[in-house]
Amino acid sequence: MSSGGLIRGDDGTLRLCGAPLEALLQAAGVDTPAYVYDLDAIAASARALVAALGDRGVCCYAIKANDAAPIARVIIREGCGIDVVSGGELRVALACGAKPDQIVYSGVAKRDDEIDLALSTGIRAIHAESVEEVDRIAARARALRLRDASIGLRVNPSVEADTHAHIATGHDEAKFGIARDDVPRALDAIRASSGALRLVSMSSHVGSMLMTTDPYVEALRVLVEVVREVQARGFTLRYVDAGGGFGVPYRDDQQAVPGPAFVTAARRTLDEAGLADLALLIEPGRWLVAAHGVLLTRVIQPKRSNAGGVARRWLLVDAGMNDLIRPALYQAHHRIVPVDAPASAPAGSVVVPWRVAGPVCESSDDFGEHPLPDPPPSLLAIREAGAYGRSMASTYNTRPIAAEVFVSGGAVVSVRRARAIDALVADETT
Ligand SMILES: *Cc1c(COP(=O)(O)O)cnc(C)c1O
Repeated sequence: MSSGGLIRGDDGTLRLCGAPLEALLQAAGVDTPAYVYDLDAIAASARALVAALGDRGVCCYAIKANDAAPIARVIIREGCGIDVVSGGELRVALACGAKPDQIVYSGVAKRDDEIDLALSTGIRAIHAESVEEVDRIAARARALRLRDASIGLRVNPSVEADTHAHIATGHDEAKFGIARDDVPRALDAIRASSGALRLVSMSSHVGSMLMTTDPYVEALRVLVEVVREVQARGFTLRYVDAGGGFGVPYRDDQQAVPGPAFVTAARRTLDEAGLADLALLIEPGRWLVAAHGVLLTRVIQPKRSNAGGVARRWLLVDAGMNDLIRPALYQAHHRIVPVDAPASAPAGSVVVPWRVAGPVCESSDDFGEHPLPDPPPSLLAIREAGAYGRSMASTYNTRPIAAEVFVSGGAVVSVRRARAIDALVADETT
């Protein structure tokens, strides 16, 4: 048994999955910036959701949170399916061993070739996000001479989640989902497909970072009303998909209910509504992986300035917004801690607020202010970086995508190396 999670040992060193982080970097033979993940903790999270669902539902991991194959494989091995939002993700899910009947596919603008791939693979359902898209999926099913191709309708429940505007999806102005008033037209389009399509589900996803189950249940109640209307029109559904969005704390003062609580609340909502015969699907991304990955970064140098008599203090590090864009994109806060904090700090060492910033030429390449020792430590861990970190990374400023180290049982089990800078330059110049 490994001692899972991110823990500071008695000697002051930060450990992931029981092993000191610096030793893991060395064992993997990679340098910073580097993501390091605890596969055992990810597996335990998946297991907890699968257990909460029992045999009455499927947990479909929203693979956009982190599409690294070692992570997807571990989650699939625990009995999860995959929620994909592109043809590329669908191919990764299949390559990692996901069963087609455990894959659902959402997205507002799927191309014909992506729809064709989903239809010919026979996934659990394509979740249509507009009436126009239902017509397009029907046309593709006919072109492929398919009958009864499984389709779901993603409904926009008009619920305002208390979250950052860029990650809220369930309100009226969002591009996501079919407005409740438009559902009858979508049903007409399915009927008009004369057997090419078969409606199997209704889904919703209100957005990310829900810290309580209230908005989740509120959206599901709206969805339940729509489900009843759909059933009243003679459609037989297989499942209801309540979406993802389970939050995780990123700050000391933040609290989030644990993931299984969302499952329990959703299941109870369906049962009380008389929908006990329908399976429950959930689509968590962040909750399965965020807390189980860190981004390690080295301090390149401090910078102190004294402009107009105002003293400022930056810690300039080798990870930037191209590696982890959440602070720049959503004003997200990630705790940053020293990897090696000697139990007895050196004489004269104090803790001061440092503004931690990366090398990218953008003012928004800024990880915010953090209490860290002065003199500064050389190696830092950016916490809760397992979700929407590497999967949103770019090569902006001709910087390679960071290395990734996957740990299980306290040992490195797999490594994805950063692209060599020579190879990256060759790409850009040929
Ligand atoms: C992004 C997304 C999710 C996962 O959201 P998390 O906040 O990571 O749980 C689930 N379903 C859909 C349709 C999504 O787009």
